[in-house]
Amino acid sequence: MLPLGPGLHVLERGWLSSNNVLLDGDDGATLIDSGHSVHAEQTVALLRQLLGGKPLRHLINTHLHSDHCGGNAAVQREWALDVRVPSGSLKAVQAWDEQALSYAPTRQRCERYTAQGSVAPGQVLSIGTRHWEVMAAPGHDPESVILFDAIHGVLISADALWENGFGVVFPELDGDAAFDDVGCVLDLIEALPVRCVIPGHGAPFTDVAAALQRSRSRLAGFRASPERHLRHGAKVLLKYHLMEEREQALPALRDWLRDTPLMQSIWSGLARPEGEFAVWAERLLQELLTSGVLGRRGDIVYDV
Ligand SMILES: [Zn+2]
Repeated sequence: MLPLGPGLHVLERGWLSSNNVLLDGDDGATLIDSGHSVHAEQTVALLRQLLGGKPLRHLINTHLHSDHCGGNAAVQREWALDVRVPSGSLKAVQAWDEQALSYAPTRQRCERYTAQGSVAPGQVLSIGTRHWEVMAAPGHDPESVILFDAIHGVLISADALWENGFGVVFPELDGDAAFDDVGCVLDLIEALPVRCVIPGHGAPFTDVAAALQRSRSRLAGFRASPERHLRHGAKVLLKYHLMEEREQALPALRDWLRDTPLMQSIWSGLARPEGEFAVWAERLLQELLTSGVLGRRGDIVYDV
């Protein structure tokens, strides 16, 4: 059995919805991350089942990508709880600044929610019998936090560390250097007495050293060839979009590619290959179809 410690439940989800962690507390439970809005109903149903009538009082987001907070609004409707977001993102949520929150540049869906407070690096959150230190984890997202319970050696790592890698380094897609941040966060994790990692996606795992090693070699590859990371980022964004839509007609998909600002940024960052965005985007799509990551039926492209 995984050494997760008392009063902690992991709802392992897929890639479109992040994992959800439920922590027992004295006045009710606390939820860490709420998944994607497409799965919001399922998230509420899973939580209701797990809570068994107990109240859900707090929701904390590690960061505000649409796959980590897309269920916030639905969860807020279901339970009278307070939502706490990373301190660096609080203003953007309150103003619903879709540019700063990434939903405009990625053209990803996220139902509007409200935040009642924030969590900041350095804080210790006492939830039930456990104490979680909030740590800054920039790189994948500049404002992301991770949570560490030193007594039980449990790390909620969001998208800073997965069993096989880490999330796309979003600032890099916009031309802002962030590979150093990724490396620093891996150093930080390596220095902690971690026995079990609950990642943002995928199953919890205990071989932290091996995961760190895989992430470091992945990071070294991206550093050696930033173009590789940009191409990887473009593919992830396109795949994610099809996970949101499930399927889309080719003309609408081509429009989405053209109108997604981050796709245009990536193309610029790659020094505008093929000379024309549409030609490059078509090749990107073809690569995902050829490798079987996406499927095509006549004029319809679908998620596999
Ligand atoms: Zn993320």
